[in-house]
Amino acid sequence: MGKTEQPLSASNFVGTSVAAKTLALTFDDGPGDRTAELSMYLKAQGIRAAFFVNGGRIAATALPNPNGLTPLANVNAVLAQLVADGHLVANHTTTHRDLVSTVANGQRVQELMETDASIAAYVPSGWFLFRAPFGSYNGAVYNTLHASGMDKYIGPIYWDMGDGDSAYPNSAADWACWSGQQRNAAGGGLVNGTGYATTAQCGDAYLNNINAVGKGIVLMHDPYSWANGSTVDMVKYLVPKLKAAGYSFVRVDDVPAIRAALPPCDATCATCSGVAADQCASCKPGRYLAGTSCMACSTCGANEYESAACTITANTSCTACTTCAAGTYEATACAAQANTVCTPCAAGTFASAPGAKACVACGSCDDGDACTTDACDPVKGCTHTPIPGCTPPVDGGASSSSGSTSSGGGSSGGSSGGGSSGGGSSGGGSSSGESSTSSGGSSPPPGDDGGCSVASTRADGGLAALLLGLALAPLVRRRRSRVA
Ligand SMILES: [Zn+2]
Repeated sequence: MGKTEQPLSASNFVGTSVAAKTLALTFDDGPGDRTAELSMYLKAQGIRAAFFVNGGRIAATALPNPNGLTPLANVNAVLAQLVADGHLVANHTTTHRDLVSTVANGQRVQELMETDASIAAYVPSGWFLFRAPFGSYNGAVYNTLHASGMDKYIGPIYWDMGDGDSAYPNSAADWACWSGQQRNAAGGGLVNGTGYATTAQCGDAYLNNINAVGKGIVLMHDPYSWANGSTVDMVKYLVPKLKAAGYSFVRVDDVPAIRAALPPCDATCATCSGVAADQCASCKPGRYLAGTSCMACSTCGANEYESAACTITANTSCTACTTCAAGTYEATACAAQANTVCTPCAAGTFASAPGAKACVACGSCDDGDACTTDACDPVKGCTHTPIPGCTPPVDGGASSSSGSTSSGGGSSGGSSGGGSSGGGSSGGGSSSGESSTSSGGSSPPPGDDGGCSVASTRADGGLAALLLGLALAPLVRRRRSRVA
């Protein structure tokens, strides 16, 4: 160990100390509307970047604010996303005014301090980096900041690529591409006659710049866009091409010249190792070791549970809570560390929609139709399934339907009509397949025997229906005789 943190520098840091074909992506002037999207994209690509944010986009400022910066609606969630995805949140002043030419000396410290108050909670490493707006910095600014509490910042962090707003197509600056200020190399004329470049045109100019310089810190601006181009889209255009060309990526605090100025062991580490004693070997509580960095353990979101706890080397595993299927109910709700427990509906109850907290009693499913099989289905509730080959007899020309009470919806059974053979005897309104108590319902209206007869001579019933009808005939006959 023995290394101590170096204060703010009098001159800029650049990225020339990285290995060949190594890039550190940096994004200024955010957060913006698509910063969270960019954060997740970069994480999916295995890239850790640095975001030099303006405090005026995080909290209202008391400073002069000629750029009209206002807080982003969900800004704290965006900052948390950046941290969770392994990116570095850094200070780019509060109002993005030129510290040398515009900000009065009495406001220079405040320009860093307001932003520092907004981002400190999102810099778990304790590694505070600063970049001056426009890269504008001099001895007077240094002297003022150096004498203040803002001397804790490392920087200014400059860049090696991405400010070529007057050398298109050899290089480009994203803000100039989207604002119509990109100029050609030859003669300084506006690109495309308008100064605008599309995502691909601007990205190709960045590629030319990167291939010419070969390594270092790349400057971009995540909030900026226009109708035909945006920085977030340009990153998605560039990253696959850069990977295919053999480039690898480091976070800007991994640039050796910058790392050497930082405290040896970042605030998230429990212990550190390595030649410079600057690599996390174990982590503070609530963190896990990823490579030589300590990442915060994830907290599972709503409708998720922790299927595996965070360990010293692996993040929490979160799994979506199960929604109980129809026909089952949520016997035990999803908890922080346990999935939902789903239990089938008990006999005589049902749950028609997924996610039910309880099953509903069917009650009596009797529809009074002897030609249906009535049952309580665990998903549908009461069902009334016609008995094949069973048709109610014609009896005295009555046309009313069955008279017994019935709970639950479902198909109505056969009504009168459709006469067939078989003498109409009295019917109890009972249907087959149910308990004997169901037959005691209200009396059938006059003329309705509520019974049925088996169509043993049907021509249109098909063989299966015929055979089933025949099989049921003794049962029907027996019931009828009993009631009679
Ligand atoms: Zn800027």
